[in-house]
Amino acid sequence: MAASETAVELRKVNHWIGGEPVEGTSGRYGIVWDPATGEEQATVAFAGVAEVDLAVAGAKVAFAEWRASTLSRRTEVLFRFRDLVDANRKQIARLLTAEHGKTLADAMGEVARGLENIEFACGVPQLLKGGYSEQASRGIDVYQIRQPLGVVAGITPFNFPAMVPMWMFGNAIACGNAFILKPSEKDPSVSLFLAELWHKAGLPAGVFSVVQGDRVAVDRLLEHPDVKAISFVGSTPIAKAIYETATAKGKRVQALGGAKNHMLVLPDADLNMAADAAVSAAYGSAGERCMAISVVVAVGNIADPLVEAIRERIANIKIGPGDAEGSEMGPLVTRDHRNRVRSYVDNAPAEGAAIVVDGRDHPASRESGFFFGPTLLDRVRPGMRCYDDEIFGPVLGVVRAETYADALRLINENPYGNGTAIFTRDGGAARQFQFDVEVGMVGVNVPIPVPIAYYSFGGWKASLFGDLHMYGPDGVQFYTRSKVITSRWPDPSTSRVDLGFPQTR
Ligand code: NAD
Repeated sequence: MAASETAVELRKVNHWIGGEPVEGTSGRYGIVWDPATGEEQATVAFAGVAEVDLAVAGAKVAFAEWRASTLSRRTEVLFRFRDLVDANRKQIARLLTAEHGKTLADAMGEVARGLENIEFACGVPQLLKGGYSEQASRGIDVYQIRQPLGVVAGITPFNFPAMVPMWMFGNAIACGNAFILKPSEKDPSVSLFLAELWHKAGLPAGVFSVVQGDRVAVDRLLEHPDVKAISFVGSTPIAKAIYETATAKGKRVQALGGAKNHMLVLPDADLNMAADAAVSAAYGSAGERCMAISVVVAVGNIADPLVEAIRERIANIKIGPGDAEGSEMGPLVTRDHRNRVRSYVDNAPAEGAAIVVDGRDHPASRESGFFFGPTLLDRVRPGMRCYDDEIFGPVLGVVRAETYADALRLINENPYGNGTAIFTRDGGAARQFQFDVEVGMVGVNVPIPVPIAYYSFGGWKASLFGDLHMYGPDGVQFYTRSKVITSRWPDPSTSRVDLGFPQTR
C-alpha cells in the first residue's frame, strides 16, 4: 500500500504504545479501503524501527511487573476484559464489517469464536499448575513450574482481525507475558478498540501494545533481541520466511500458513446436506477463511447431482455490503485481491476446467465495491492454477475422483494440510479417513472444523511451521517455558562431601 496524497483528510489509525494511542513518526502510511464502496476510509501509520523499539522497550518494563502479579490479579483482569468484549460485541463486529467487508452476522461469529479463547485463558491458574513429586529420592522433592517468556509478538492476517489476535493474546497475557500485536494493515482499527478494552480492564500499560505497519515493522520484531517469541498467521510463503528468520535468531516461533481445504463427498452422503455444507463453507466470508472449503472431491456417481445441487444453491446467495439487511456475502478486502481472484477464473477454461457458475457475470462484480460473485468450477485437477494455488475468494472447484483411494491420495499429496472434511453416512469410512488423512483438522460431516478453544488449532505440512499449534493447551505451552526444581531441606549435621553422580536412594 502506498502513501496517499489525500492522507491528511482521512481518519488516522495509530499505534498503541505505553497504554495509549501514539501517532506514527516514520512518515509512512497505508490506505484502509472501504471494501463495500471501493473508497479510501482511513490511513494507517506504518511503524519504523524507532516505533517498534519504543513498544518493545515499554513492553519489557511492563513484563517485569506483570509476571510478578498474582494469578488472581491476572484472572481478574482477564475476566474484566472478557466482559468488556462481550458487552461490545456489536461495536467490534461493526468495525470488522467496515474494514474487512464481511457481513455483520459473520463478524459476530468471529467475535464469539475469539471470546472463547479469552474465556479459556480466564482459567489460567488451573492451566499453569505444574507437577510435584514428593520423595523423589530420600528427603528430596522434584517439581515443575511454567514461567512466561517475556515480550512476545503476534503478526496477524486481514481475514480475522479480532479473532486471530484473541487466539494469541489471551493465553500470552494470562501466562504473564507482555504482548505486541502487529495487525494486518488492511483492517487495523479493531486492534486499537481491543487495546482500549484491555486498558479499561485494568491491564497495566505496556503489557499489550499495537504497532501498525508492514514488513518493516515485522522485520524489526523478528530481529529485536528482546522479543522472545513470534506467533504468525498469514500466507504460506510469509509464514515460512518468518519461521526461518526468527528461529535463526533463537526465537520460539509458531507460524500458521495458508490452506487448500478439501471436502470429500462419498457416494452414500446425504446430497442436500453435502451441498448445503459446501456452499456455506466455500462462500461464507467470500471464501476469505483459512478453513474455507475450496475444493469438493466428489467420489463416483455423486458428482453430477452434487454439482447441480451446489449450482442451485449459489443462485440464492444474497450479495451486498456487509452491513446491509439480508446480505449473506460481502465484498473482498481490496481491489487488488478481487482482481487476483478474477484472474483464476479467467484462466480456468484454458487449463481445462469448466465454469459452471461464473462470478464475473454477477451484477455485484460490476459495482465500485470489491464484490466478486460466487464461482463454481468443475473438472478441476492438480496442475491447474485454480487447484494448486490458494485463491482465497468465492471460487469453489470440484475434482472428480473414481474411488475413495484416489480422493485420499489427492488430499494427502496436496502441499497444504490445514483442514478437511468427509461427508458420508458410513461411520467406518469416516473413521478410516480420520486415520488416513494427512491434515491437522478434520471434520466428519462438519465442513469447517475449527477446534473449540480448549483444543488447539493447527494444520500440517505447508499450513504450519513450528511444533505447537495455536491457542488452547498448546498455546499455554507456547507462551511458557518449563522449569524443574529439585529440592531438599536436610538436617545440616548430616551434610558431607560426595563426588559421586547423584542417584535416587
Ligand atoms: P499475509 O501473509 O499477506 O499477511 C499476514 C501478515 O503478515 C500481515 O500482518 C502482513 O502485514 C504481514 N506481512 C505481509 N507481507 C509481509 C512480508 N513480506 N514480510 C513480513 N510480513 C508481511 O496474509 P493475509 O493476506 O493478511 O491473510 C490471508 C492468508 O492468511 C491466507 O493465506 C490464509 O490462509 C492465511 N490464514 C491462515 C490461518 C491459519 O490459521 N492457518 C488463519 C487465517 C488466515
